[in-house]
Amino acid sequence: MNAQKNCPLCQPSRYPLIWDDKYFRVILINDQSYPGYCRVEVKDHIKEMTDLTASKQQAMMKILMTIEGILRDHLKPKKINLASLGNITPHLHWHIIPRYQDDNHFPDSVWSSPKRFKEKELPEKESAILIAKIKKSLDS
Ligand SMILES: [Zn+2]
Repeated sequence: MNAQKNCPLCQPSRYPLIWDDKYFRVILINDQSYPGYCRVEVKDHIKEMTDLTASKQQAMMKILMTIEGILRDHLKPKKINLASLGNITPHLHWHIIPRYQDDNHFPDSVWSSPKRFKEKELPEKESAILIAKIKKSLDS
């Protein structure tokens, strides 16, 4: 590990951990505007996808695709947004954001100015089911 002192992703996550292995962790952000919002993070302080070995790139993509599939099946969002920005926090991570017609920014990106203010966090019970499904899929 080459943890950076000032990097929030090098610190323990303040969000619930869904799953992890030696290299990656999946957390549930479950933003009130985007129920089911997950993030896949590399554990090491790595900046770009091309800094990963080819097999780690594939492993990360597999995690993303697995979670995207589960979010689609389980939450039936209008769209899934996959995003890897890291301009503010240059520590490789992917956002997996279920988008809904009535979410606060739709159809714009979640980082744009909000169009409305709704709060509809995923209920705890549904959130637990989702976490269990993701865990089970990533463990198999
Ligand atoms: Zn970092």
